[in-house]
Amino acid sequence: MSVKPLRADSAERRRKPTLCPSSRCAEGAILLGVVGSDAQVQFLNQPVRIDAEFVDIAHQGRRPEKRFRFSSPCATNACRHWTGSRCGVIDEVFDSVPETHRIETRPRCAIREQCRWHRQEGDAACGACPLVITDLMVDG
Ligand code: SF4
Repeated sequence: MSVKPLRADSAERRRKPTLCPSSRCAEGAILLGVVGSDAQVQFLNQPVRIDAEFVDIAHQGRRPEKRFRFSSPCATNACRHWTGSRCGVIDEVFDSVPETHRIETRPRCAIREQCRWHRQEGDAACGACPLVITDLMVDG
């Protein structure tokens, strides 16, 4: 299994696609963080791109989207959470996480300048983001 650190000067970063911060465990996705025992996401200091072997191994335990957070290019109209103009997930997150429960210090995050939620909501998104477990949001 190999994981490739993301380089700030890579061609992909220069193109700056908008990234979904809560995507599926799939080859080529970025591993953003790990869900801790307190149910909060601990963001990696150095996000890495996952390969097929990582995906295979990750699917051997509990569903990976319950244990990790991944990022991939935002699919807009190809995603059922796309409202036509924005990602509806962060709106659901805001509805379900009261402001008093949000994180005051935004986490160090390598995708911030490309993040869909941050582009929509600014730093407010980062206060709720570490509380998001992808599998729960996707499957209800
Ligand atoms: S909402 Fe903030 S912390 Fe979460 S992935 Fe986007 S930029 Fe990073």
